[in-house]
Amino acid sequence: MKSVSQFSVPQAGVRPAEQQPQWPDPEEVTRVRQRLAGLPPLVGPDDCDRLAVLLGEVARGRAFLLQGGDCAEMVERATPAAVHGTVETLVRLAGTLERAFGMPVVTVGRLAGQYAKPRSSPVETVHGRTLPAYRGDAVNGAAFTPQERTPDPRRMLRAYEAAATTLRLVADRPEAGPRTAREVFVSHEALLMDYELPLTRRDARTGRPYAGSGHLLWAGERTRDPQGAHIAYLARIGNPVAVKIGPGARPDDLLRLARVLNPAAVPGRLTFIVRTGAGTVRRVLPDLVGAVADAGVPVAWVCDPMHGNTVRVNGRKTRHFDDVYEEISGFFEVHRSLGTHPGGVHLEMTGADVTECLGGGSGAVWSAGVRPADLPSRYESACDPRLNRTQALELGRLVAGLRTP
Ligand code: PEP
Ligand code: MN
Repeated sequence: MKSVSQFSVPQAGVRPAEQQPQWPDPEEVTRVRQRLAGLPPLVGPDDCDRLAVLLGEVARGRAFLLQGGDCAEMVERATPAAVHGTVETLVRLAGTLERAFGMPVVTVGRLAGQYAKPRSSPVETVHGRTLPAYRGDAVNGAAFTPQERTPDPRRMLRAYEAAATTLRLVADRPEAGPRTAREVFVSHEALLMDYELPLTRRDARTGRPYAGSGHLLWAGERTRDPQGAHIAYLARIGNPVAVKIGPGARPDDLLRLARVLNPAAVPGRLTFIVRTGAGTVRRVLPDLVGAVADAGVPVAWVCDPMHGNTVRVNGRKTRHFDDVYEEISGFFEVHRSLGTHPGGVHLEMTGADVTECLGGGSGAVWSAGVRPADLPSRYESACDPRLNRTQALELGRLVAGLRTP
């Protein structure tokens, strides 16, 4: 089963799009796209522009980006408990980093749109039975049954509603005190073309198209082909954009992406989110940062210490807390040695007490550390393992000890 489709991206023509679902009923997709096109955008151009200005400060070395949330949001978890838990944890982390670094921390959730997932295989086999892989709540269901795993375009409407609910919860959250009043933006991977294209609207002031689905959108490691539909789409929208960069990327790949996505060389327009793995970052990052700096391209550099450090333990995907910290530490070290700015971190995390990542808890109460035997007790992620609240806050304290140049 191939998952490459052709999409017409306005002003860019027809482009191949990797990682798209095989919808069983194309007419239903057309109906859903028409519905989405008639719904109000979830975010407006002014807020997107304001985030771009703040990210410009990150690119200039005067601010830090904290981006985090679920790997895959679930529609049924667009609840006050879940959203407020994640946002409160993000806001506390941001406060810790702001005090430590002495610079503003721009706070961006993986929230209100992270409902579509790229997969390494289009199918999943369990006990000899093969079904389509779970591609996020906007596409199909996580449960391993034929009914759930069949892509259903009406799920995109449910994802839109859950995103709208999540945005209301982010805006109306209880604050611990005036010091924690902090603006929280939202971001997700721009993966599902049938969701993103109908939610893209022209800014009435300038005529420029903006994604209405979130403030900051990124292209994943698997969909960052400069000729493909995803990059063509990001090139065209006014929102700030980001690209995930894996260990196999070459300096030329980044220069090409920068030419396509940030031709006017505006600081804050483009962020590179590097996810090489703890053992690789010190070896591959210097050439990437060096080439981009030599080319004079202004980008914000952010470290995703999650996706290069996924391992399987007792049949479950997990990550070691120490590897997560080690990759961030290597990222800071490389930037320190080059005199460039380690601009931020991108985390898969939650405010809940889940048991998905191993370790943490050093020097804290013993029970904070998650052991392999603990993984089944609260493994609730629909996709990749997240740091729990305790692990996220502990990581924040450790990162606070790293110096920016
Ligand atoms: C993700 O952020 O969940 C993801 C799939 O990342 P990447 O594209 O870096 O693999
Ligand atoms: Mn993930």
